[in-house]
Amino acid sequence: MKPAPFDYAAPTSIDEALTLLDDDSIVIAGGQTLVPMLAMRMARPDRVVDINNIAELSGIEDKGTEIVIGTGTRQADVLASPLVAEKLPLLKQAISFVGHTQTRNRGTVGGSLAHADPAAEIPLAALAMDAEVSLASTGGHRRVSIDDFLIGPMMTAREPEELLVAVHFPVFADATHVGTSFHEMSERHGDFAMVAAAARMHFDIGGVCQFAALALGGVDGRAVRISALETMLTGQRLSDDLLQAALAEISGAIDPGSDQHASTDYRRRVAVSLAERAIKDAGEGAA
Ligand SMILES: Cc1cc2nc3c(=O)[nH]c(=O)nc-3n(C[C@H](O)[C@H](O)[C@H](O)COP(=O)(O)OP(=O)(O)OC[C@H]3O[C@@H](n4cnc5c(N)ncnc54)[C@H](O)[C@@H]3O)c2cc1C
Repeated sequence: MKPAPFDYAAPTSIDEALTLLDDDSIVIAGGQTLVPMLAMRMARPDRVVDINNIAELSGIEDKGTEIVIGTGTRQADVLASPLVAEKLPLLKQAISFVGHTQTRNRGTVGGSLAHADPAAEIPLAALAMDAEVSLASTGGHRRVSIDDFLIGPMMTAREPEELLVAVHFPVFADATHVGTSFHEMSERHGDFAMVAAAARMHFDIGGVCQFAALALGGVDGRAVRISALETMLTGQRLSDDLLQAALAEISGAIDPGSDQHASTDYRRRVAVSLAERAIKDAGEGAA
């Protein structure tokens, strides 16, 4: 199919883009998701606002306590960034699972977050890292935690007149030993995850867990944190018994669907298994 007719605008600044956004317009970034949606007429906007010429939306900046990534930054550039490799290894690992070289060359960090697929890797990693997003409109800017931003399948807290401009990843400089790990199961490498798990663990010098974050994707309407498990691990030294008891909290905290790829029960079991691997690897990799 071909898209329904639309007007096309290619602003060169954020301010100009903001004057073009309303209920009847849609942003296009890398187009990896939107172009098929337009072609299938799942999206029928009056105007497409192309943000690819807005240089100020691209870049990865070290601000000391946080790394700020412009939403127009290509996934391939994040994957290749030495700064991301050093300070945000979980994000690098997550992006290595997103699609293929060709899709990552065009696909943007912001496009993945704004689309909010429940199985997408970038929102999942952002949730495990307690990231925040910046949204801009002609009325001003606001900063929202990723937890408040992600609402449900392809639903976010972004208003139609808002542009997602940046993602803020804290770097946890005051934590002693931090380990992260990302695991996923998909039918083929590059497919959306059937289930994915992202873990971030902080330990003190004596090996006691000071903080635990476990986020799961593909098992609910949006990426979810398993707070009961996190609470059980915090303040404890990791042991097999403790981990098994904590993993038992997962099943009641997720609501996976069933489809031609996997049943609900199978997804639950895979979620527990990937969570175990992610937590163990994060614990072993803590440096
Ligand atoms: C073959 C193939 C395999 C893929 N595999 C995966 C995968 O394994 N995991 C995965 O997560 N994704 C996968 N994708 C999806 C894709 O690659 C991107 O990760 C992403 O979903 C879209 O990013 P984009 O920049 O292309 O956004 P676009 O397609 O341009 O836009 C996507 C949505 O986000 C909105 N949007 C984009 N930028 C902004 C912004 N700055 N502010 C407000 N709204 C914005 C658009 O309006 C649109 O609704 C795959 C795609 C293909 C074609």
